[in-house]
Amino acid sequence: MGTKFKRLMEALSHTTISDDTVERLKYPKSSLKVSIPVRMDNGDLKNFQGYRVIYNNTRGPAKGGIRFHPDVSIEEVELLAYLMTFKCAVLNLPFGGGKGGVTVDPKSISKFELERLSRGYINAVADFIGPDVDVPAPDVYTNQMIMGWMMDQYSIIHRKITPAVITGKPLSMGGSVGRDTATALGSFFVIRTLMKEQNCKKDSLTVAIQGFGNAGSILAELLFRAGYKIVAVSDSKGAIYSENGLDIPSVRKYKNATRDLKSVYCEDSVCNILEHQTLNNEELLALDVDMLIPAALENQITEVNANAVKAKYVFEVANGPIASGADEILEENGVIIIPDILANAGGVTVSYFEWIQNRTGHYWTLGKVNKRLKQKMVQETKNVLEVSQRESVSIRTAAYIHALNRLEEAVNAGGTKSFYTDGI
Ligand code: NAD
Repeated sequence: MGTKFKRLMEALSHTTISDDTVERLKYPKSSLKVSIPVRMDNGDLKNFQGYRVIYNNTRGPAKGGIRFHPDVSIEEVELLAYLMTFKCAVLNLPFGGGKGGVTVDPKSISKFELERLSRGYINAVADFIGPDVDVPAPDVYTNQMIMGWMMDQYSIIHRKITPAVITGKPLSMGGSVGRDTATALGSFFVIRTLMKEQNCKKDSLTVAIQGFGNAGSILAELLFRAGYKIVAVSDSKGAIYSENGLDIPSVRKYKNATRDLKSVYCEDSVCNILEHQTLNNEELLALDVDMLIPAALENQITEVNANAVKAKYVFEVANGPIASGADEILEENGVIIIPDILANAGGVTVSYFEWIQNRTGHYWTLGKVNKRLKQKMVQETKNVLEVSQRESVSIRTAAYIHALNRLEEAVNAGGTKSFYTDGI
């Protein structure tokens, strides 16, 4: 097994999982590469490369987002589909792991071209997805409107309205209330559960957050309102820092108005209210805080900068912000990592709720969505922490073990080696 399986191998060294299960996890179930011809606004025909992967569907239809990014490749999509297999199993969702993507810089094409590309993607993968087969969702640089176009295109092809084929849709097209805040709220429940288990007093905890988008900014506000001291936040242009804590609702308000974090404190009257300084992202990652929350991109903490991290806890709200080579360094330095397959699973959990609502035609209130999200996140965080203590392993390894046990149960239900060979 290659390096992408490093964390799985670590979990396997602490638990007994059948060879059948390991064999099933070695390769994706299916990997589809497609070409998507799009007529561009200037009349040119451009052929984009797209992908959809079902890594494993032993526990249910595949589930995973669609990414539009210039770096998307089949290898990346396979890796993300593999991670989704574990994330859905950690949360005990009745889904396997899937993922999709198109190699494109969405900022370089017009809105008309974006819609044609989104519909073209569905034309290409329509026989490969479906409510009982593989259920996509938004990911990097795809959003509600794109999910709406895609659902519409699938419905046109199949000549029936099929909202359950895709999640993260606009509310008016069968989306779920609470889906937009689900990732941040799910992370918040994980943090609160862990802090309780560790007897931490929340008002004494300082937090730095990398990434102030959907997940990072909403989580910042939830933590701020719960009494945590958010001392630094960053976006792609840089970071702002205040030893006494930032006023997050103001930061969000001004960031939304200006799209620029730095201007929040430097060009507005807030400048006079709070002392602050600006930092670059490397400096943010190295701050002496209790909690560091990478909520932007992959591979932000690597072998190169892992030793600079001084935080006691790192919560992986982004997917894969810690390169696997940095795990060991952080652990040796006593840093407690809460892995992405648990920390950011609130998004896929409410996607599951959206799928249920689409299939039943009965739509839930925000109160019901958030209550069920809380139940799931708290329960599975407790389960993972219990495995971590019982097996004396990191929380990441515990999350993998927890998922593996569920995957094994499903694989074994179809027959084990001893079932087939006993008495032969
Ligand atoms: P987003 O696009 O809304 O926000 C990303 C933020 O990161 C932006 O503020 C951007 O300026 C910032 N950023 C970009 N490059 C940066 C850099 N070099 N340094 C610091 N900040 C930088 O995206 P999002 O939906 O908030 O997702 C963030 C991460 O969370 C991604 O890894 C995503 O896969 C993961 N995630 C999101 C969801 C979800 O439902 N939104 C679910 C699961 C996982």
